[in-house]
Amino acid sequence: MTELKVNFPSVSTQALSRLVESYLHAPSPTLAKTLRSLLAEWEVEQEQPLPPQILEKALEQSPVAVSITDLNANILYANACFTEVTGYSPDEIIGRNESVLSYKSTPLEVYQALWQTLLEKQRWSGVMVNKRKDGSRYLAELCITPVLDKDGEPTHYLGIHRDITAVFALEQQVKNQKALIESVIDSTPAAMAVLDTHHKVLLDNHAYKKLVGDMRGKETAHALLDSMVKEDAGFSTILEQRQSFHEIEVPCYIRGGVEPRWFLVSGIWFRELASTADAFFSGEKVPYLLLLAQEITAQKQQQEEIRRNAMRRLMAEEELTQGVRETLAAAVYQLESPFNMLSAALDMLQRREAKNAMDGTLLSVLSEVREQGENILRNLHNAIPQASVIEPSSINFNRIIHDVLLVSTERLLSQGIVIDWQPLPTLPPLHGLEPNLRSMVKQLLDNAIDAISDSDAGLREIVLQTTSEESWVCFSITDSGPGVPETMRLKVFEPFFSTRSGSSGHHTGMGLSLVQEVINQHAGTIEIDPDYADGCRVQIRFPVARV
Ligand code: FAD
Repeated sequence: MTELKVNFPSVSTQALSRLVESYLHAPSPTLAKTLRSLLAEWEVEQEQPLPPQILEKALEQSPVAVSITDLNANILYANACFTEVTGYSPDEIIGRNESVLSYKSTPLEVYQALWQTLLEKQRWSGVMVNKRKDGSRYLAELCITPVLDKDGEPTHYLGIHRDITAVFALEQQVKNQKALIESVIDSTPAAMAVLDTHHKVLLDNHAYKKLVGDMRGKETAHALLDSMVKEDAGFSTILEQRQSFHEIEVPCYIRGGVEPRWFLVSGIWFRELASTADAFFSGEKVPYLLLLAQEITAQKQQQEEIRRNAMRRLMAEEELTQGVRETLAAAVYQLESPFNMLSAALDMLQRREAKNAMDGTLLSVLSEVREQGENILRNLHNAIPQASVIEPSSINFNRIIHDVLLVSTERLLSQGIVIDWQPLPTLPPLHGLEPNLRSMVKQLLDNAIDAISDSDAGLREIVLQTTSEESWVCFSITDSGPGVPETMRLKVFEPFFSTRSGSSGHHTGMGLSLVQEVINQHAGTIEIDPDYADGCRVQIRFPVARV
């Protein structure tokens, strides 16, 4: 039997071949590759088995620490890298037990598992804390393989290990940095989530998790992004093109909640190096979306409260001005007819005077009366307050109705009237004059309340509904009052026409004529539904704003 020229005399060529066989399967890709290519090269060129010297050299020059032991872990062979890693030269280590490397902080269970596996003739791999010759410690990633003889019995153990202290330090550093980043992110009151390009949430913070809880498990990021697209269809392009966006106010409806919660949402796209094997040389980067959502519901409610109060004040002022306008217009209207008669009579008298040479005293008195009358009428006309000039804007008609219902709540409650409000959730916007539209809805609602108050029908209900048809926004208001007789369905829109006796108090008969005026301003249509018999249903249509 040929003895190999290795540092120990007892390993035969066959044993070494078996060792190399085991080694070929060991998880050291570099060495396995080197050995395989050496073997292949040799067999091709020489057409005979690889000489043992080559294998010995390959083991010796291997870039990982290799040791071969007997079955009690007494070292029989150690390569150059073993010396490099442990500090022990072959002379110092051969004949000693591997336990010389043990730094006793490795738990006993690790050794027990190692030996149990080896006794089962299986390969063991794991990590141990090792001690070098100089006493310094390093972390060893070990793979120990039993070398089996032809009967399948272990004769030796092959140990391969490498120092992974630096890798471990790096891993720890990454973990620590991750923990630090996570604790900073977690302590941020804004909800944060990192999404991949398919909008799958990969990372989130406490505030985000809490929101998901509030939304009963619904992915909040999806709800926010959906809501943004719903509010502004153009936003889907921003998302598709992966553009970042900043502080967009987004309403988010939580299941069961009537009012939305509001968030200031920002999205920042960033790119990270891909971690797949393909990306090793290509340096491919993967895009991610960092979504930040800061809740602003309280501020929004405060703003809304201020807006509502301002709107209430404005509507009260508008109502007052409207009242003055109607009263003065009614006065002018009522004065105009006797005055016109007087004027006509005076004209007749003047013609007669010219023919019959009548006494001019009466005529001059009447002329003076006419002149004074004309002055009074002019003054009254000039005293009619003009509507303030406002710029048209894009309007959500549901919001107008909502505002009017808010200011009318007290009146509705005092009259015991039930409101059935059926808004179309995604109503297209109108282009128009907000205060005028608000006055119009208020007028229609007041009319409906008055109609119900006048009737003794059991049902006291007003239904408000918005729908959309092609390029129209439709609004209907239905009351359970006595309804409008067919003969009056057009007349009610005339100025100073009222079905209420005497047109006294605030009923000047101008309400529906003003409604008609607003409809005309907005190129809309209005009609009293002729087919509705259980009260009155007013149907209005406005053209949808052109984008
Ligand atoms: P030990 O008394 O050696 O053993 C601890 C436990 O292992 C005990 O429960 C004991 O019953 C069991 N055990 C020990 N020897 C045997 C055996 N022959 N058969 C069955 N069970 C046994 N250890 C390191 O710390 N670092 C290394 O780099 C390292 N490399 C090794 C490489 C090889 C090829 C082999 C075979 C073993 C290696 N070991 C290594 C394990 C080493 O031999 C010791 O078992 C370990 O260091 C614990 O030593 P110890 O003196 O604390 O306890």
